[in-house]
Amino acid sequence: MLLEVKHVKKIYQSGPSQTIALRDVDFSLDKGEYVAIMGESGSGKSTLLNLLATFDQASQGSIHLAGQDLAQIKADKVAQFRRDMIGFVFQDFNVLDHLSNRDNILLPLVLNNQKVAQMEARLNELAPLLGIEALLDKYPYQVSGGQRQRIAIARALVAQPDIVLADEPTGALDSKSSRQILDLFIRLNEMGHTLLMVTHSSAAAATANRVLFIKDGIIFHELYRGQATEAD
Ligand code: ADP
Ligand code: ADP
Repeated sequence: MLLEVKHVKKIYQSGPSQTIALRDVDFSLDKGEYVAIMGESGSGKSTLLNLLATFDQASQGSIHLAGQDLAQIKADKVAQFRRDMIGFVFQDFNVLDHLSNRDNILLPLVLNNQKVAQMEARLNELAPLLGIEALLDKYPYQVSGGQRQRIAIARALVAQPDIVLADEPTGALDSKSSRQILDLFIRLNEMGHTLLMVTHSSAAAATANRVLFIKDGIIFHELYRGQATEAD
């Protein structure tokens, strides 16, 4: 079991008022899976992904990633754990505009003090896979949204994480670019990458091998590829 989420609850407290974003979320995921968590806006998707990504902590319950209880990681070790284990893909790409696409992609390796030759080797592996060779010397603002997302995906993959988490990765893209990103996810999964995506898009979710449906902070239904989807 790569990821084990047990009875996770998340409450946001702001002054006297509280929002229960996750009520009781329970699921697990094996290495090599491609899972989508699908739900409408406000259902708790981003909250859940932020907990899995160690950006935030659950109020109750536990999350284990590769056997590590996320709540037990010391504060000064969280960033390194995240860099080693998790690749994150954002809806709005989150690339740095003052860095070239190449430097954006290599940033996680620079932070890991990798040698230049190793970084170049990794880039030479990833660039053709993602179709971004011609974009490396450009800056993010010089390429399209779909291309920027491929740069961001390269950055997510560059340190060879155990899992890639994607928050609505096609949400800012037109339908053609969305399709290209989803086809890329399918291919990455076929190559063995473990992917977990949250989305409100049934087209996006349909590319996963397993879909978990979330509503009001609860996963209420689960489908495997090949089964008919109610959502369609
Ligand atoms: P989704 O990603 O599915 O749109 P979210 O996880 O963003 O859902 O939100 C789930 C619920 O938690 C919503 O009711 C939202 O308003 C609330 N929420 C999200 N983030 C915060 C926050 N930082 N503070 C207070 N409430 C929040
Ligand atoms: P377009 O005009 O390019 O067809 P839309 O404005 O319909 O795009 O949606 C933009 C993107 O948002 C889509 O390409 C898709 O990735 C995503 N999207 C939003 N809602 C849905 C949905 N219900 N089903 C599938 N995709 C959706």
